[in-house]
Amino acid sequence: MSKAPTFENALAFAADLIRIPSLSGSEQAVAERVREEMDALGLSDVRIDDTGNVIGVARGGGDAPAVMLSCHLDVVAEGDPAEWEVPPFSGEVRDGFLHGRGAMDIKGPLALQTYAAASLIGEAPGDVIVAHTVYEERGGLGMRRLVESGAVRPAAVVIGESTHGDICIGHRGRAELEVVLTGVAGHASAPQRARNALDLLAPVMSALADVSADQPDDPILGRSTMVPTMVEVLPETRNVIPDRVVIALDWRILPGDDDAGLLGRVRDAIAKRLPVVPEGLGVEVRMAEEHQVTWTGRAEDRNLLTPGFLMAPDHPVIRAAAAAVGKRGKEAEPASVRPWTFATDGGWTCGVHGIPSLGFAPGEERYAHTNTERLDVEEARWAFGRYPDLIVAMQNALR
Ligand SMILES: [Zn+2]
Repeated sequence: MSKAPTFENALAFAADLIRIPSLSGSEQAVAERVREEMDALGLSDVRIDDTGNVIGVARGGGDAPAVMLSCHLDVVAEGDPAEWEVPPFSGEVRDGFLHGRGAMDIKGPLALQTYAAASLIGEAPGDVIVAHTVYEERGGLGMRRLVESGAVRPAAVVIGESTHGDICIGHRGRAELEVVLTGVAGHASAPQRARNALDLLAPVMSALADVSADQPDDPILGRSTMVPTMVEVLPETRNVIPDRVVIALDWRILPGDDDAGLLGRVRDAIAKRLPVVPEGLGVEVRMAEEHQVTWTGRAEDRNLLTPGFLMAPDHPVIRAAAAAVGKRGKEAEPASVRPWTFATDGGWTCGVHGIPSLGFAPGEERYAHTNTERLDVEEARWAFGRYPDLIVAMQNALR
């Protein structure tokens, strides 16, 4: 006998998940807890892949295309627990809100999605895949590997990042680049024996300003932005001529931007301002990297680019989804359709792999990553009630 897929049980499951801290790279305990719940709910093919993602399937009653529901297993750090009104790992329901780190980003929606899928076992027109990923908060290594592995092949994806009941259709992406200036270090009292890497800073900063001023605009997602955010000078000594300067760039990119394109734009702009690099000095433009290790022990030097994506507001799946969900309290009217301001795993599923993706979840964005993180219980109950219609409508639109 499987556990009943009721809202009350889903809420209790969400509270359990909040009590298990799960920073990126340390999601093991929460992954095992999610697997246990999927088994209890009667999902099929429940497993954890070698990246540490948890996957299960609610078998449908027909052969309509599969829809995948996805949240992430990791959360951001809680900061100083003393700054929280309600302890960050309590999972307490107080004053109509579920409180704690992950309440709305994203353990609450994770529980709702998992339970909504379970409520459709044997009922949906096709399979409902449930896949909760690792490392979303640090660029989405889990989702990238899940889709690349071919272990799941959904026809569409619902991301459970907060939308406050709207249908979200995309977002800008983010890339981090570095411009590295090199020279020859030497004693500051004898500059003739050294080559100062800082000599290149002025022309390179001008070139970066040229790139910033020439950013494309998207009518829905807004303008792409590129900002130098940090300059590191090495060695960090005031009486040594530096041989290394690293300028960090934060670039909020549009769908379709990739490493080669971004690197090319910076290199071209630098070549215009600095056609000849003086002897003994050097300029390198590269993607920033971060060493990431999943809880299952898979390591990677990950290039820091999280893609953006955008679905057409009149795409049949988006129209079907907005109509099926409806506006809260006025369900005959379609839900509002808009982009998110933050990035999600949809950049991988849709931006890179072209799988139609959208977001639907309760929760207000302003509480995410804060020490007042919370999920309105009545809004969560409403969203849980809309999920089955959403999934069925998407599957019918995909036939
Ligand atoms: Zn999130």
